[in-house]
Amino acid sequence: MQSSKLTGFRTSDILYYISVPMTESVRTFHDGFSQNFLEITEDFKGYLQYMKGLRYEGVALSAEALSILGDWDRWAMGETLDMIQKDLGNCQRCKLHKRRKHIVFGAGNPRAKLVLVGEAPGHEEDIQGQPFVGEAGQLLTKVLRAIGLTREDVYICNVIKCRPPGNRNPEPDEIATCIPFLRRQLRAIRPKLICALGTFAAQTLLGTNIPISRLRGHFHTYEGIRLLPTYHPAFLLRNPSKKRDVWEDMQKLQKAYERV
Ligand code: SF4
Repeated sequence: MQSSKLTGFRTSDILYYISVPMTESVRTFHDGFSQNFLEITEDFKGYLQYMKGLRYEGVALSAEALSILGDWDRWAMGETLDMIQKDLGNCQRCKLHKRRKHIVFGAGNPRAKLVLVGEAPGHEEDIQGQPFVGEAGQLLTKVLRAIGLTREDVYICNVIKCRPPGNRNPEPDEIATCIPFLRRQLRAIRPKLICALGTFAAQTLLGTNIPISRLRGHFHTYEGIRLLPTYHPAFLLRNPSKKRDVWEDMQKLQKAYERV
């Protein structure tokens, strides 16, 4: 660690401050408490001297270091996407496994601030094993670009991970079987924002039957994370008149993204 580049506290400064003013101030404390406090201070001083001997110059408090510390709980205490994918394995937990070509687990930045959740893989996604790579996916990429984001900035996944035959709607038992994996993915990523694309994603994550036309455009909460529902890009391809609504939703999402 270069001393000239250290943003934070120098070991030598901390040693000075805990040696002089604190020792003076604890004289006014209750005896028992003072004793404990002095012992802790002495232990801490010993630790700092040891670290100084190892040439650690101080405690880094740069923006980068604070960002790593801010994410520490989700990295140190939670499971990772790799662990979840390994647990999913060659999943045969519901009937959709019979006709799928690939499980579409999800793709993008595992530390994304924004996760987009769709409904289910379609034909192209089933072939490639990647989410949103068909025509609707291309539209989603364009929408993201319009608010200054790339697919690499975000994480993209679906409520269910195998293609329903003929792109039919997912059935309740399929959603119930697959949804725990999405919930675990969201806990692993801990994004600041979720964008639910379409009826199934919005209603499933929010636990409601309210139509997407009423849910969209407003921020809701999923496990403490702000969630904005909007129309699914495939719906948008069939209903171009809804582009204005989606654009308004994306502008809200962009403003929220810039603040987190
Ligand atoms: S849809 Fe989900 S639960 Fe069903 S087989 Fe695929 S991965 Fe497993």
